[in-house]
Amino acid sequence: MDESAPTNMTEFLTQNEITIRLSFFFGIFAVMAIWETLSPRRALTTSKGVRWLNNIGLVFLNSFVLRLLFPAAAVGMAALAQKQGWGLLNHYSLPFPVAAVVAVIALDFVIYLQHVMVHAVPMLWRLHRVHHADLDYDVTTGARFHPIEIILSMLIKFAKPSRCSALLSLPLSSLRYC
Ligand SMILES: [Zn+2]
Repeated sequence: MDESAPTNMTEFLTQNEITIRLSFFFGIFAVMAIWETLSPRRALTTSKGVRWLNNIGLVFLNSFVLRLLFPAAAVGMAALAQKQGWGLLNHYSLPFPVAAVVAVIALDFVIYLQHVMVHAVPMLWRLHRVHHADLDYDVTTGARFHPIEIILSMLIKFAKPSRCSALLSLPLSSLRYC
């Protein structure tokens, strides 16, 4: 395998982070929205227009708050971790495909634990129930989160690639799955 592939991937992701992130978000969103409009699993009980205005309005608010607080986002933190050599996957040179698979599984597991935590801790549940209080269930429900939960989630994403004492630090390229 080309030794410089991860570095090239890092540069590409760092330079095009916003474009890549938005392309994935809007691409998958559009596919799901079209699919559920053409073949709805169940009838909505409230106006789709009003719900979409609320839920997508929340997405724009959350994105704005995140960019304001963390302009470099998780990719910037991952780039720093990689530069400093923080974390196991930056420390040991695993073959890139193996490191990427381990990183994706670890990222998903951390997000799973985060989800268990926001259901179990009463104070966090108060934030997380914004997501579960949606009156219907469609593609926008998955993006409906309280701004403070989004900030906490981003801090957890920062910790994943950067914490040097923890089990894993992840190659930058894996963050495309966050
Ligand atoms: Zn939940």
